[in-house]
Amino acid sequence: MSSHAAKSGEVRVRFAPSPTGYLHVGGARTALFDWLFARHYGGKFILRIEDTDVERSSPEMVEEILEGMRWLGLDWDEGPFFQSERTEHYRKAARELLESGHAYYCYCTPESLKERRDLAMKEKRNYKYEGTCRRLTSAQIEVNEGRGLPRAVRFKVPESGTVEISDHVFGKIEVAHEQIEDFVLLNSKNHPTYHLSVVVDDMEMRITHVVRGADHVSNTPKQILLYRAFGAEIPEFAHLPLILGPDKAKLSKRHGTTSVTAYRDMGYLPEAFRNFLALLGWSPGDNTEIMSTDELIERFSLDKINQSNAVFDIQKLDWLNRQYIGASTAERLAPMVQKALESKHLWRDEFNEAEREYFFATIDMLKSRMHSINDFAESGQAFFTDVYEIDEAAAKKNLKDPALKELMPLLASRLKAHDVFSLESSEQALRALAEEKQVKAGLLINAARVLLTGRAVGPPLFHIMVQLGRERTATRLERISTLTFHQ
Ligand code: GLU
Repeated sequence: MSSHAAKSGEVRVRFAPSPTGYLHVGGARTALFDWLFARHYGGKFILRIEDTDVERSSPEMVEEILEGMRWLGLDWDEGPFFQSERTEHYRKAARELLESGHAYYCYCTPESLKERRDLAMKEKRNYKYEGTCRRLTSAQIEVNEGRGLPRAVRFKVPESGTVEISDHVFGKIEVAHEQIEDFVLLNSKNHPTYHLSVVVDDMEMRITHVVRGADHVSNTPKQILLYRAFGAEIPEFAHLPLILGPDKAKLSKRHGTTSVTAYRDMGYLPEAFRNFLALLGWSPGDNTEIMSTDELIERFSLDKINQSNAVFDIQKLDWLNRQYIGASTAERLAPMVQKALESKHLWRDEFNEAEREYFFATIDMLKSRMHSINDFAESGQAFFTDVYEIDEAAAKKNLKDPALKELMPLLASRLKAHDVFSLESSEQALRALAEEKQVKAGLLINAARVLLTGRAVGPPLFHIMVQLGRERTATRLERISTLTFHQ
């Protein structure tokens, strides 16, 4: 990191979402990188809501974005600031540019501009505003003003020269002034445009580093011209590579959900999702994949961001989620598991001490096999209710031997007869029964697992028995006589 600001600990970065949609994967990745960068340098992370498009923005979307950020633990130090409340700042800045000769009034009507654009399109050329009003004489301007014509304010791009961007990710980018049109700062309704508001805010909020999506690279030259015209210090830029779906097309709804809160609802852990996002376009420089938040903060640097597009690989996210769930404590998982159970009506609010212990021990027993938090209420369902589903394929496979109708109740009565009920005693009872009846222990084990949990796979059988307890285990084994579908 070459920046003076970064070295002196004065880093100020911002996340500037437009609330025209929810917080999507790309936006969350941008927010995370800004946040990691700020935290790495002990700087400030500023949240700015770019809601100038009043018709497409909504308070619900703002709330959704904030909720997604809170879920990911991306806490902001300043803001949220709302651009819709700052219109006067932008108008004032536009007036300054008019006064300093960096901007001019444009009286071209939207209809005439559209005609010119359409013509260019028909003739297959790129349209660039011709600078019609830039050349108006003061007498012409006076006439137009006298007639009260609606007017926009346009930036006067200097005639010769180039804009140079030294991007932390994409390196040097040079654009000749002649390629940039005199862009609009305030439209004819006196409404500020994106370029003006973003630069005014970045100046006033003393942003040192603009870290944002690569889709904004093409906006940067215009914004640099504005900084220059204001005589302001230009921030450093880092544009983050695009995120693609597995088919290498830009990630969109077509690839499935892209809303961050939907991932929470699907049972992903925020720390797993954060780790996953961090690897979308960045790597620490070795093969480390699982990194705690502290480690991410410590290792994050702009110089390790890739230029090449990142691919959203859901299998990797699933893998990370499993790793994180398996490594989490029951205390960490409990509130999330509770929510998952609540949404399946498997949760009771009244809890005695023994039930609380049971709940935590169950989480510990299941966690290494769970694919998501919701999985506790799905494949782990039988540990939280006596009316669980029995997987049909599992039943067909493991309950079809007719001898089981007799063997399972027999196993139940043996378990009940033992003085103790432990891992050892239950295993002993099962093996003794197998031997006595000349059947494989595996037959009894597989059948018992299906009866006890409804599933063909799961934790070791005797752990399941002890966890469920003697009574429930026996009742569930006896249930075989009431099942009809396995025959
Ligand atoms: N509001 C813009 C967006 O949501 C971001 C602008 C910026 O970061 O400069 O894409």
